[in-house]
Amino acid sequence: MIAVGVNGYGTIGKRVADAVAAQPDMRVVGVSKRSPNHDARAAIELGYGLYAADPDRTDAFEARGIPVAGPISELVEQSDVVVDTTPAGVGETYRDLYEECDTAVAYQGGEDATIAPHSFCARTNYSDSLDSNATRVVSCNTTGLARAVTPLLEAYGVRSVDATLIRRGGDPTQTDRGPINDILPDPVDVPSHHAPDLQALLPDLDVTTKGVTVPATLMHLHSVTVSLDTDPTAREVKELLSDENRIELITTASGCDSCAEIQEYVLDTGRRRGDVWENCVWADSIDVTDGRLSFFQAIHQQSDVVPENVDAIRALTGEMDAETSRTTTDEALGVGM
Ligand code: NAD
Repeated sequence: MIAVGVNGYGTIGKRVADAVAAQPDMRVVGVSKRSPNHDARAAIELGYGLYAADPDRTDAFEARGIPVAGPISELVEQSDVVVDTTPAGVGETYRDLYEECDTAVAYQGGEDATIAPHSFCARTNYSDSLDSNATRVVSCNTTGLARAVTPLLEAYGVRSVDATLIRRGGDPTQTDRGPINDILPDPVDVPSHHAPDLQALLPDLDVTTKGVTVPATLMHLHSVTVSLDTDPTAREVKELLSDENRIELITTASGCDSCAEIQEYVLDTGRRRGDVWENCVWADSIDVTDGRLSFFQAIHQQSDVVPENVDAIRALTGEMDAETSRTTTDEALGVGM
């Protein structure tokens, strides 16, 4: 069993811990938190050992009746791999600890790409991170783009990608985020940081991305145009994408014409936390004219990187090939609607 620690038990960390616990070849050593809040209490109720990210604050946890298993250094020492899901930029401050303990680490997309030798998306470049001491799982938006572009590259060749990313203003619990009533070019400069992030996975890709932020918390919506080397039919592209387990084609017949309806559907069918691990590509939006493909896809920012983190753990240990890992992860989680 691969022993996994999760440092930073928030939006991504709590989902990664549950996904790791569901795998046949992994166990959760524990999770760490800085604040003794409701997430810390929930971690204990779910049976995870809770480690103090800041040992000086152990008393604050215990004063609220939240038992602490030990300091973060113990969690790191006892883990084969740590998934670092601390807030953007904080992972860097733990780099020395991971190295001192000789514990492999999967950082997240909020860290600079230089934090690890490679960035990671299981469908695109799993083998780059095989048997490595660190990798970086790219952001939710970049993961969504990489999953869609990789099969297109393999099947048809790609000349260029142009994507407009209509981004949620914040996650549902981020009550300090916005806008409340505006539509923001975000950033105003083109390309947004997602283009170089995608190139961290696919260095030769010609890609432009533009970011827009809107008052929503549900999902991101991508409007993607891909210039292909060949001229497949829309039907062939649909077949290609529907063969991808982490891409779901949403048909008009399903009645899911919005991100809200996708969320409602997964909640109704029992997905914990309303997670949507798959890229949701609207089948009727797929159009190919003279080798120029366009489509819309919805990306659930809180969960699409979760199966990627599970695969990143296996890649770092070097114990499984990419396809076996993806299949194992997806079966354990129930990926595929
Ligand atoms: P979050 O704020 O929801 O969770 C971070 C957790 O880390 C919190 O529980 C916080 O208490 C804890 N923490 C804070 N400082 C800490 C410290 N010094 N040591 C240990 N724990 C600490 O953040 P998140 O949204 O889960 O993001 C985590 C990472 O994942 C970031 O790099 C982010 O860019 C990336 N990411 C986020 C999303 C998203 O939409 N939320 C999507 C993909 C990737």
